[in-house]
Amino acid sequence: MIDLLTGARLSSYQLAQMLGIPERQVEEHLTHVVKTVARDKTRKFTLDPARCQDCHFVFRERRRLTSPSRCPHCRSEAISAPRYGIELAGS
Ligand SMILES: [Zn+2]
Repeated sequence: MIDLLTGARLSSYQLAQMLGIPERQVEEHLTHVVKTVARDKTRKFTLDPARCQDCHFVFRERRRLTSPSRCPHCRSEAISAPRYGIELAGS
């Protein structure tokens, strides 16, 4: 999964498709990936936060990796999924 994410931006849905595993399992793997990458000085985990498609509220404060189901601002359920990636340091 680290190789897939390096230089990319993927949602957990896309990762599930690429790896052929359930999305819930992707989220478990991501937790380990975050820890692994945190120990690796050459790589950096990045997260493009989920956002509301109706009012463009951005879920910046959200620390969990799973995507929120409802906008706290306008109550819309049209939330775009967060996207994950890994950048190489110094690139
Ligand atoms: Zn909203």
